[in-house]
Amino acid sequence: MTRALYPGTFDPLHNGHIDIATRACRLFDDLIVAVYDVPPKKLLFSTDERVELAQAALAHLPNVSVTHYAGLTVDCARRHEVDVMVRGLRNVTDFEFEHQIHWANSQLAPDIELCCLFCPTEYAYLSATILKEVASLNGDYARWAPDNVRRALRHKFSYPDPAEPAEKMTRTQSKFTHHG
Ligand code: ADP
Repeated sequence: MTRALYPGTFDPLHNGHIDIATRACRLFDDLIVAVYDVPPKKLLFSTDERVELAQAALAHLPNVSVTHYAGLTVDCARRHEVDVMVRGLRNVTDFEFEHQIHWANSQLAPDIELCCLFCPTEYAYLSATILKEVASLNGDYARWAPDNVRRALRHKFSYPDPAEPAEKMTRTQSKFTHHG
């Protein structure tokens, strides 16, 4: 039996992540999506919220479970006795980053393999940051995130009804606009 860990921040989970999880769970007997508790970046969703959003969005995949972790990813991998870590690649920037992290991880845990899956072109530019920025401005991001995540984003940014015109709504100050 081959067990794999798919670690990440997932703030929040989007369709690019779901595509990778869907393909990875066909390759491995068990796939554990591991939400990193405290990454060195600003978060919109709490750990519990990120876990709940991922659990609901991936509930249709029978061999996928969701957990969270603090500390080293390789330590999380060892606790869960995984053979492989899965990561998604969008472009050469991701490749360079993953290559470097893999170098460190392979020194810390040489027995754990890395499996990188390329994302399809439709998600090649999708990131959680872009998703949050567009959501904060009430743009149309229906193709980028599942229903439950879209609901959670509307709630965070106080957009109660997606059909309601933007100018009639009030919203919280966007945390993801840095223009001027
Ligand atoms: P990170 O783990 O670097 O903080 P994320 O939580 O956003 O980033 O992503 C978790 C994993 O999902 C990483 O392997 C990342 O490369 C991958 N990923 C992010 N965005 C996409 C996407 N649009 N398509 C496929 N994979 C993605």
